[in-house]
Amino acid sequence: MTAFDLSGKAALVTGGNGGIGLGMAQGLAAAGAAVAIAGRDEAKSSAALKSLGRKAIGVHADLSDEKACRAAVDEAADKLGRLDILVNNAGINIRKAPQDYTLEEWRLVLDTNLTSAFVASQAAYPHLKRRGGGKIINIGSMMSLFGASFVAPYGASKGGIVQLTRALACAWAKDNIQVNAVLPGWIDTALTRRARKEVAGLHERVLARTPAARWGTPDDLAGIAVFLSSSASDFVTGTAIPVDGGYASQG
Ligand code: NDP
Repeated sequence: MTAFDLSGKAALVTGGNGGIGLGMAQGLAAAGAAVAIAGRDEAKSSAALKSLGRKAIGVHADLSDEKACRAAVDEAADKLGRLDILVNNAGINIRKAPQDYTLEEWRLVLDTNLTSAFVASQAAYPHLKRRGGGKIINIGSMMSLFGASFVAPYGASKGGIVQLTRALACAWAKDNIQVNAVLPGWIDTALTRRARKEVAGLHERVLARTPAARWGTPDDLAGIAVFLSSSASDFVTGTAIPVDGGYASQG
């Protein structure tokens, strides 16, 4: 047993059926956790479950809907028999000039990326408290730190994720619940493959600015997920940790 061992723990990863969420879910499963993944696409979830071991389960939900989001957390805790770790990872982006968004588009991005993290955390709180503590990991972005012309709602949601993280960390430290944010750099997933099509020159700009000189892969996020889910991080709370190949450090 090491400080990174997650045997006997149960985790819910929202958006865990693909991309960064699946990379983190695989890390948690490899460290011994029973993992639930929540998403809308059942075919994607069935395929993802095959890589997460026999204890893993899928929860089908549109997390931008408050009731469905609360129900998904309760279903995961019920089916796994407990809940120790919540990873708020589900997210979308709609890329446009700020003046062109409809309010529905703005709300959809905020509801999916930020409000669902708040609602899922609220729903997870009694389950974590019952176990004497727990871990919440919120997924931010380089857009938690920087601006870009095509990310008004996405950037607002990801800035909000960092402040939500700090607020929850302060409030729930007394319950032995650590809450941290992870800020991925540019990671090769369905989300960014679409971005590369929509934003001219993005691929080259990412390579030029990232000191590691490559795009990240979803398994680059596995280690930080295990660290922030394990007792190794019991005195780490309220932080926002870039996992970005040095992108945020480059002037
Ligand atoms: P993907 O598009 O590959 O994954 C997004 C995940 O979110 C999917 O599993 C999707 O599941 C789920 N999801 C989206 N909307 C909903 C919803 N309404 N209800 C339930 N699940 C939903 O993207 P990434 O893996 O790249 O993104 C994961 C997170 O990482 C996001 O929060 C993103 O903002 C963040 N991020 C990504 C970066 C990157 O470079 N890739 C950089 C920084 C941050 P389904 O399809 O089943 O609905």
